[in-house]
Amino acid sequence: MKRYSDIIVIGAGASGLAAAGKAAEKGASVTVLERNEKAGKKLYITGKGRCNLTNNCETRDFLSNVVNGQKFLQSSLYRFPPSYTVELFESLGVKLKTERGNRVFPVSDKSSDIIKALKEYATANSELVLNERVTDIKKVSETFEIKTERGNVFESAKIVIACGGKSYSSTGSSGDGYTFASRLGHTVVKPVAALAPIKLRTSVSAIEGLSLKNVGVTVSGDGFSESGFGELLFTSDGVSGPVPLTLSSLINRKNLKGAVLKIDLKPALSDEKLDIRILSDFQKYSNKQLKNALFDLLPRSLIPFIIDYCRLNGENAVNNITRKERERLLNSLKGLSFEIDSLYGIEHAIVTSGGVSLKEINPTTMESKLVKGLYVVGETLDVDALTGGFNIQIALSTGFAAGESAGGSINNG
Ligand SMILES: Cc1cc2nc3c(=O)[nH]c(=O)nc-3n(C[C@H](O)[C@H](O)[C@H](O)COP(=O)(O)OP(=O)(O)OC[C@H]3O[C@@H](n4cnc5c(N)ncnc54)[C@H](O)[C@@H]3O)c2cc1C
Repeated sequence: MKRYSDIIVIGAGASGLAAAGKAAEKGASVTVLERNEKAGKKLYITGKGRCNLTNNCETRDFLSNVVNGQKFLQSSLYRFPPSYTVELFESLGVKLKTERGNRVFPVSDKSSDIIKALKEYATANSELVLNERVTDIKKVSETFEIKTERGNVFESAKIVIACGGKSYSSTGSSGDGYTFASRLGHTVVKPVAALAPIKLRTSVSAIEGLSLKNVGVTVSGDGFSESGFGELLFTSDGVSGPVPLTLSSLINRKNLKGAVLKIDLKPALSDEKLDIRILSDFQKYSNKQLKNALFDLLPRSLIPFIIDYCRLNGENAVNNITRKERERLLNSLKGLSFEIDSLYGIEHAIVTSGGVSLKEINPTTMESKLVKGLYVVGETLDVDALTGGFNIQIALSTGFAAGESAGGSINNG
């Protein structure tokens, strides 16, 4: 037997729960189908388990952190800005705090509190069906027929695809949303990793785990160059941390063949000033070996790596270092360069870039321009932003916008 609802939402992540709650508020009958045994599995791991819910900034500043979909997101973000999210969660009993860079977290530092509140909001007037993976969607005249893995069939006047992207698939987002949208006639921009660590061709395993603060990083390649400043972490085969993650989102649609990542270890010093600084350290440690003369300049674990990188002999006494050798040291401190291999795979990306083409979606309502009654929200869309609470807010804003439109139009007949 088919079960009918006005609206069926596929996926109980941030975007699906927001859409369901808003549509039900408007008086529509809503059913949410979620493949997992619980709602919000990805939200649980966000912000290292603390959930960076949103970014408490003006919409204009928010949009400058959006990498793909800036123009598209304007309407939903002005209608449902971060302040709307903050008010909603506080009204649901979650105390929030704002940290460095306007990042909003629950005071409890527990993402489970965010999930609990959002689930409460979504299911106050709608039904949530768990362990129900949708496998097929068909439009049959004016209604949608939705089939699930367990053999159940649902029917609705409208559907909201809120299946997320393709990264961290163990949380449920394995790309089903793209398959459904494409079967219904939509263009899907190739999903690629965003906010992902960068793999390097040179081995950096010797400095794995080393974290550098206040460094300048530039990635450049065929026709592009992007720079950032801040923190970087060496992994076993590449770099991660805030700056590389941001840069990964800016270069993920570029051809990375031959691309180079350059680290300026001393961005506050010009070449001349750094040379004076090196000379003064060499004077201070004039009787020491080179490997014991760089402690004031570099973290200990980086010293042997840099000496190797510059092809210098660490056993050499400092007063034997030639001008040319000093120059090599200076150049590597100002531009430690590595050839980029690739970005880590989409599975390890914090968000997926790419997705349902924005040209085919109404930016105010999230309704498809091709299929009446079909809505697409959250990471399934070709939108992505930098870290800082922007991605969850995008999921919520697009979800609210779809819920308001789908629920409102049901109510108005
Ligand atoms: C490790 C990590 C940390 C992050 N930290 C932050 C952060 O602190 N702040 C921030 O803003 N962003 C963060 N993000 C990004 C953010 O979590 C996502 O952008 C956001 O959750 C996307 O919401 P969504 O609703 O579009 O998708 P999802 O949250 O992925 O939800 C999609 C839901 O659809 C369900 N589903 C999929 N296919 C089907 C199907 N066929 N049938 C039924 N159900 C289905 C899935 O099981 C899932 O529950 C982080 C991401 C990761 C991986």
